[in-house]
Amino acid sequence: MRRDISAATPGVKIGLEIHCQLTALKTKLFCSCSSDYRGREPNEMVCPVCFGLPGTLPALNERGVEYAIRIANALGCSVANETTFYRKNYFYPDLPKNFQISQYDKAGGVPIASGGSVRLGPKSIRIRRIQLEEDPGKLTYEGTIEKSTYSLVDYNRAGIALVEIVTEPDFESAKEAKTFLEKLRATVESLGVSDGELEGAMRCDANVSIAGGARVEIKNISSFREVEKALNYEILRQGTFSAGATGANNETRHWDERRSITVSLRLKEGEQDYRYFPEPDLPAVSIDAEYLERVRREMPEVPAARAERFVREYRLSAQTAEELSRDEVLSRFFESTAKSYQGTKEIANWLLGEFRELDRARLESLEPPVTPGGLAELLEMVESREVTRKHARELFRQMVSTGKMPSQLRTAGKRGVVGDEAVLGALVDRLLRDGDTADKARRNPKAFNYLVGRVLAMEPRADPKLVAELIKRMLG
Ligand SMILES: [Zn+2]
Repeated sequence: MRRDISAATPGVKIGLEIHCQLTALKTKLFCSCSSDYRGREPNEMVCPVCFGLPGTLPALNERGVEYAIRIANALGCSVANETTFYRKNYFYPDLPKNFQISQYDKAGGVPIASGGSVRLGPKSIRIRRIQLEEDPGKLTYEGTIEKSTYSLVDYNRAGIALVEIVTEPDFESAKEAKTFLEKLRATVESLGVSDGELEGAMRCDANVSIAGGARVEIKNISSFREVEKALNYEILRQGTFSAGATGANNETRHWDERRSITVSLRLKEGEQDYRYFPEPDLPAVSIDAEYLERVRREMPEVPAARAERFVREYRLSAQTAEELSRDEVLSRFFESTAKSYQGTKEIANWLLGEFRELDRARLESLEPPVTPGGLAELLEMVESREVTRKHARELFRQMVSTGKMPSQLRTAGKRGVVGDEAVLGALVDRLLRDGDTADKARRNPKAFNYLVGRVLAMEPRADPKLVAELIKRMLG
């Protein structure tokens, strides 16, 4: 049953429901339990409010509302003037209260935001709504979900603030869905509301149908890589039922990561099964224009807006601007360099090309080896033909390993290259005295290059080739 699934299958419609934890919040959405639940003992971070015990009342975390509005703004949604909470009732062991405090877009319910859109290449993906809700607890099954004879439950996660983002079924392939999710993750991260790298911080349900056939929902896919795999599997599975034939059911399926297949969980529940009704313990939340304006003003810039600004202010091509703006560190570096060097396209090219050779951790550190001023100086030297492009690349590498300005390196170079093996050998010897360093350099080319860099840092006039040779010899 192999066929090319990288190409879009005609008639495929995919909609996504993304659950994004607001990991930047210190506490849960409706109580003061800490939200820092990862790596804790199970059921350690719970309180009577989490459990909905009689006599307790939920109290809304206001910062949660603000963060949800940031996301809504970034996705071009309109924020409600007044938003309400609803109870979604279902019996499942992951809910200690037997209901989840969520939002609802029918029967008078108003979710926090609705109706946005996100550009994805030539098309735009419509956002249906954004809502604020609490995370259920976490279930762990013994073996597989269908065969398990028991499950373990941890309520530390119950009550963590979630923003649910629901798209229209506008995706036509698994790849499109994955690209969107990556873009969304970069957006929420740049908003400072969620760290998508944390395990389980961004989870996704997907519904898939082909040519108006059955609508299948795949639940709780844990990572974006898995989303693409799960969707491709499901498209392939549904594609094996011939058009119009019964076979695929309207159902909920679970993605089994270990076996890389989807398995049927249950026939799809209707919304009536959830018996939604207004949450009597939480008043409606008014969001006035003044508040909205303040949230907007204090919001960090998201990659899409930054890309537009880069095109406008620095006359970069749309593609370069997008590539650059996706990376916050590079973007910041770009703008500081542009303050002292006019050739913005040239700066962008260097950052997207040569900078890839840089060690990220060092670039992100407070004192990166190459400063915006250093790069500007180097580009000026290229422009005035003081150095060739090839030489500039060489200088750049030395800037990375020594942290010096290109002019300093040039002056050092003019004084003559240090080619004295005895002098350089002594330096190498000093570094290799630590046996661990030598061992790593033997096994790992990166560690080897790092060693070359350290020698050059001590003696910038050294000939890098000679240094590499010497180290090789001394490593045996
Ligand atoms: Zn609690």
